Amino acid sequence: MARPTALPPPDADARRSVRPVICYPVDSLPRPDIAAFQAARAGWRMVDEVTVPPRAARGFSVPAGHFFRITSVEGPQVGDLNLWSQDLSERFYSGKTRALHGSHLTTGDRLWSGFPGLRPMATITDDSLGWYGIDADGGSVHDVIGTRCDPYTHNLLSGGQYHRCCHSNLTRAVAAARDLSLPRAEALVHDVLNVFMCTGFTRDTGQYFMKASPVRPGDFLEFWAEIDLFGALSACPGGDCGGEHSSDAAACHPLLVQVFRPQAAPEGWAPPAPNGYDQSHGGHDPV
Ligand SMILES: [Zn+2]
Repeated sequence: MARPTALPPPDADARRSVRPVICYPVDSLPRPDIAAFQAARAGWRMVDEVTVPPRAARGFSVPAGHFFRITSVEGPQVGDLNLWSQDLSERFYSGKTRALHGSHLTTGDRLWSGFPGLRPMATITDDSLGWYGIDADGGSVHDVIGTRCDPYTHNLLSGGQYHRCCHSNLTRAVAAARDLSLPRAEALVHDVLNVFMCTGFTRDTGQYFMKASPVRPGDFLEFWAEIDLFGALSACPGGDCGGEHSSDAAACHPLLVQVFRPQAAPEGWAPPAPNGYDQSHGGHDPV
């Protein structure tokens, strides 16, 4: 954010004009063979189907080597996705996923787990909104920048007690699906992939913005489960997030999660091993 509280030095323009360097070039990572994944859909069989009601969330499981799809049904709707390993020991790391792939994800990008695992949990194998790109406002879809709507920020900014934010929806869904107390479930909820949401940062103030999602019924985002996954998806109370969230004002619609078993995994595919760092951290510092 530009905050002109200090006078610029004489060489300000020169300092600003240095070349940006990509923090994490991903050229060294093996590129997922998307054509091979898409070919593996031939003859797949749907093995599970979960409808997420509006202003609620549901849990679902996806074995490694299966596809899952999140599909818009009935009307434009944004979904907040959390992913864990099936044993809940690893969870999706939206911040590192953002650092590796950028602020918005699409086909070919991966959803990475946190330390020390830091491995792909899922690969995006198809995205019917892949045409959207980056719009004139700097907005795009499927972001890993927003954290999830939550009742704490709502209380901070507006007061009141609202219970249908994605954070609470995910908490209730995880508690129900895994037979956990609400506090234990809440501790598992983490920053999301904002499925179908259209977001960006304003150019003048750098603030996080949202605009009505371009998603329409039939649009989908498709993933390949790289490891055994447990997921939870919330149908955000913001609906298409074109107006407000954290209230019952927006028109909201269900979302559909479907799990598909392929006849065979792409040749050579295997669940990725956890990260190779040895966790010794150079030993203890002297006291
Ligand atoms: Zn939400």
